[in-house]
Amino acid sequence: MTAKDIITIPNPKLRERSKRVGHIDDEIKQLAEDMIAATLDWEAGREHEFGAALAAVQVAQLYRVIVVRNDFDNKADKSFSVFINPEIVKAEGEPVEELEGCLSVKDIYGSVARYPKVKVKALNLEGRPVRITATDFLARVFQHEIDHTNGMVFVDRVEDPHKLFRLGTNGKFTPVRTGSDPQ
Ligand code: ZN
Repeated sequence: MTAKDIITIPNPKLRERSKRVGHIDDEIKQLAEDMIAATLDWEAGREHEFGAALAAVQVAQLYRVIVVRNDFDNKADKSFSVFINPEIVKAEGEPVEELEGCLSVKDIYGSVARYPKVKVKALNLEGRPVRITATDFLARVFQHEIDHTNGMVFVDRVEDPHKLFRLGTNGKFTPVRTGSDPQ
């Protein structure tokens, strides 16, 4: 798969719930590989952005599968972890607002409140249960991707249009809406 396989809003599939994976077969393993390839291809074409993670619905496959980059600080590390049927079992702390983007929402970023710490359970590609305690950006990524598996896109969590920003070709953000604009 390539970046062209990534669907974007308003594709209605992005608002559908994905189904749980019962058996991790070759089709699911291939899907995970395809998702990683699509994410890296997307990143290769975008100078100012980082492909942190992807959910299967974003390549139009309604399975609860997400891939998450292993190192968010190093673009040269192109390895990912795969999580099957991920769910948040516990969220802790006061939600924190930070800018967030999505491969399915072209050039728009939004300030979204997310818990600073979450406990996630999932299966790995071998079908073994894994539990992760994620904090800060990783916690945000899990909340964003698990939202995708439930048919929710980050912009659905941004009620105030002043909290949306457009990424310019110069890498800078400008408000989508300014103070006195009509709604
Ligand atoms: Zn996303």
